[in-house]
Amino acid sequence: MMIKKYAIYFSIVALMGSCAGGKYATTEKIYKKKAKDFSEVYKEAPVKGQLEKINYKDKEWIASTNFGVRKPNYVMIHHTAQKDLDQTVKTFHNEKVGVSSHYVIGRDGKVVQMVNDLYRAHHAGLGRWGNDTDLNSSSIGIELDNNGISDPWPEVQINALVQLLSYLKETYKIPQANFIGHMDYAPTRKNDPSRFPWKILADKGFGYWYDEVLEDPPVGFDPKIALRIIGYDVKNLDAAIKGFKQHYTQMDVNSALLTEHDLKILYSIFKKFL
Ligand SMILES: [Zn+2]
Repeated sequence: MMIKKYAIYFSIVALMGSCAGGKYATTEKIYKKKAKDFSEVYKEAPVKGQLEKINYKDKEWIASTNFGVRKPNYVMIHHTAQKDLDQTVKTFHNEKVGVSSHYVIGRDGKVVQMVNDLYRAHHAGLGRWGNDTDLNSSSIGIELDNNGISDPWPEVQINALVQLLSYLKETYKIPQANFIGHMDYAPTRKNDPSRFPWKILADKGFGYWYDEVLEDPPVGFDPKIALRIIGYDVKNLDAAIKGFKQHYTQMDVNSALLTEHDLKILYSIFKKFL
């Protein structure tokens, strides 16, 4: 009798569990299948398809005993430009669209993880930061639920982001300079996150902000070189300036002109990268 009672209890619990995961059961299955396929590749020894591609005869696989998994070294922040968190999740399940991020944070501060930190999510796309042209491979992508036009940035959402960034910075030893926005990396195509409170993050050690007392840049100060040293791709200088303004001045962001005040801000940021 006792056994039967337990059996019924456990089957109800199991049913509740499957109901809770029901909405995302299909996508969860796809994730697990992909993760399993990757694990097969990681297990290979000797590794297939690498040494073979080196156009040279004298070569051999000899396994080392000392290695680990690659870790992220950047964090890239985005706004979703979508209606709500559910819509973003739906987009990140659309295999035709093919985009994703490691984390999505709702306006109510809910943190949703969608990809293991150690995997490569598809959030950065084409761009360049310093000499790195594949930030998807080296970064954690965080999407913040915001329509990108007029939505405010609720304190509860920023607080959740700060907690997430603290975890990432500590776990992967990510340098302060390496917390950037999508528009820093891809200023020809992107303006996200827009109107974003970067100073709050910089004050907590995520990215840099300019000094309160601004100095005049020295004679001969070259904004192009300064932007390049910070990390911007200056091949399209106008776009780089707009990206910089979107991040640091948040005024007149559609113009590539730098005012005296903008130049002071640029000089202040540039000095932090020396
Ligand atoms: Zn983005």
